Amino acid sequence: MAVSSRYLDAAVRELSRLPGIGPKSASRVAFHLLKMSPSDVRRLAETIVDLKEKISTCPVCGGISDGGNCSICEDPDRERKVLCVVEEQKDLLTIEKTGVFRGRYHVLGGVISPLDGVGPEDLSFGKLVERLRAGGILEILVAFNPTVEGDATALYLSRLVKESGVKVMRMARGLPVGAEIEYADSATLATSISDRVEIGQ
Ligand code: ZN
Repeated sequence: MAVSSRYLDAAVRELSRLPGIGPKSASRVAFHLLKMSPSDVRRLAETIVDLKEKISTCPVCGGISDGGNCSICEDPDRERKVLCVVEEQKDLLTIEKTGVFRGRYHVLGGVISPLDGVGPEDLSFGKLVERLRAGGILEILVAFNPTVEGDATALYLSRLVKESGVKVMRMARGLPVGAEIEYADSATLATSISDRVEIGQ
């Protein structure tokens, strides 16, 4: 006779909605949770809820913060004249890990993708232009994933800010086309950032 529990079924169903977790892994995790102490399970659950409820968006760069401006925007040692524009927060974290970029960031929230219904107005270009108008930024380093949409968005950005006289650079072609920044190795990414080139208008 099959033994089943609607609580177990529900846990497996929710866990298997997570990226990279299929039904088999979900079931393994669910059984592991059953074996954990009640206090450990509670702490895990609270950590997940806090992640969603307590993390906010930095009003300056659009990156994550624990309330108010993020630690990078608030760091007086970060160069203010260079701004690295990334698609998502996870790209910011990957670039931070290389340790070669000492400027600040702007998280766009994605790339222009007409097929997915994403236009410039859905991304934080307005905020980017505001930051440039505020002055002090001399160079933008575009660090989008090397995709057709990433390249098109980089071109859009360089045209958008042309008037302001800010230099727009992109990473050297160290990353293979279609590769994601998130999965690039740190050394390759560091070289791509150091060897950056200006985007032709
Ligand atoms: Zn910030």
